[in-house]
Amino acid sequence: AKEKIACDVLIIGGGPGGYVAAIRAAQLGKKVVLIEKDKLGGTCLNYGCIPTKALVQSVSVLGHIKESSHYGFDVPDVTININKVMGRKNDVVKQLVSGIQGLMDNNHIRVIHGEAHVKDDQTIGVKTKQLDATIHYQKMIIATGAVPIRIPIPGSDLCEVLTSKEVLELEEIPTSITIIGGGIIGMEIAFIMNALGVEVSVVEYLPSILACLDHDVSDVVRQSAIEKGIHIYDGAKAMGIRKTMNDKMITEIDINDKSYLISSDKVLMAVGRRANLESLDYDKLGVRLNEKGSGIDIDPFMRTSNDDIYAIGDITNKIQLAHVASHQGMIAAEHIAGMAHEMHYDVIPSAIFTMPEVGTVGLSEKEAQEKEQSVNVVKFPFFACGKAIAMNEPEGFVKLIVAEEDKRLLGGAIVGAHSTDLIATITQLIQDKVTVEEALKVVYAHPTLGESIHEALLMADDRGIHFG
Ligand code: FAD
Repeated sequence: AKEKIACDVLIIGGGPGGYVAAIRAAQLGKKVVLIEKDKLGGTCLNYGCIPTKALVQSVSVLGHIKESSHYGFDVPDVTININKVMGRKNDVVKQLVSGIQGLMDNNHIRVIHGEAHVKDDQTIGVKTKQLDATIHYQKMIIATGAVPIRIPIPGSDLCEVLTSKEVLELEEIPTSITIIGGGIIGMEIAFIMNALGVEVSVVEYLPSILACLDHDVSDVVRQSAIEKGIHIYDGAKAMGIRKTMNDKMITEIDINDKSYLISSDKVLMAVGRRANLESLDYDKLGVRLNEKGSGIDIDPFMRTSNDDIYAIGDITNKIQLAHVASHQGMIAAEHIAGMAHEMHYDVIPSAIFTMPEVGTVGLSEKEAQEKEQSVNVVKFPFFACGKAIAMNEPEGFVKLIVAEEDKRLLGGAIVGAHSTDLIATITQLIQDKVTVEEALKVVYAHPTLGESIHEALLMADDRGIHFG
């Protein structure tokens, strides 16, 4: 049926940017319509953050079972039922997606499942089997996310060359996989696949995997990967992929002008994601892209070059993380309702679910040095933390970067067990511009991994008790 819909706020895209913006706008009394062409929750819930973490949990249980004799239990041989592993992951996703649908209903947000297209700068159209809608809005928020990049090498379009989305939907475990790209997504999947018994090779163009991290931090993950039998080829350029007569995929790589061939059943292309710029006609909307043309240009309130249109999340190509998208969504919705909170990008935590995990926030040591700040860097190793030893998780450390001048915390990185949860504490300290002395007034419970943050703070004040 044809329908004309009018709303205060129209949101295109139901990922962690769009659905959070929708709820916040509804809380502020706006009549909200959200259009989603695929599934509520977007990439994060359906094909990204959540399914990967559900699988990380499964393989970490497997890891504990395999180490069970260390804890005093003799468990006979373990077999992997991949259907159940994937089924549990799907159940987790389903539960969360239906939770979002419930939130939409509770907040009286109309969700239209269909693909939005631009009619003119005031009107969006959406056609579904049941509906041919024309939507007029006062304000619109674009939250259409990002899509995977495929590097233009021969064979990159072969059907055995998968994206992360397809890897997360595999019904059978391949014997071997070559992962092109040793960034966050590539390395998370490398550890999952390795734990499931897959022979994994990672090809990274840069000199090191997880190049976004300081070397000492990425080295812990690199060493762990190598110990687990993951083959790492860094400083290696993928030149092409071809399929042999017996269905093997051959990836040709170049290291220092020497050519090598890696054979595997599947190839994963994990070389990054780019803003989904094709899905709407931005010229018609009067919405400009940024200078590089890599995302929609926005001001600190998420406004685009068209005052009535906002953009949030991966489509803005600021920092491609779910919590950034959600925070931008809150700011956009609140700005529409007359509140003016600016978005800042300098204290954004990042969580990497490798084995061990990594959490970072604020400046890295490298960035602090590039900014020519005089810094004191301290590291407290988990092997000196009682709880980490009791947990049999002695790998890694808490690293703090502290300004020499006023002893304020500038950055932190934690590599080790539960570091993605622990990083919240350091995030709060940096956000609050706390000095080491002020931070040391906080008492940390014993025995906890959090005590390692306390010990690192003590080290920054030359008062380390258990180390250094
Ligand atoms: P998306 O979540 O991509 O949502 C955009 C939505 O818009 C999609 O559902 C799409 O269908 C819809 N859409 C697009 N065009 C239209 C249209 N024309 N009409 C209607 N609907 C449309 N981030 C983290 O913070 N932590 C993690 O651990 C993490 N792990 C990840 C693991 C993987 C494998 C991947 C791929 C990503 C991961 N990310 C992680 C990144 C995270 O998923 C994204 O940063 C986040 O989803 C961005 O949210 P968004 O709302 O901008 O876009």
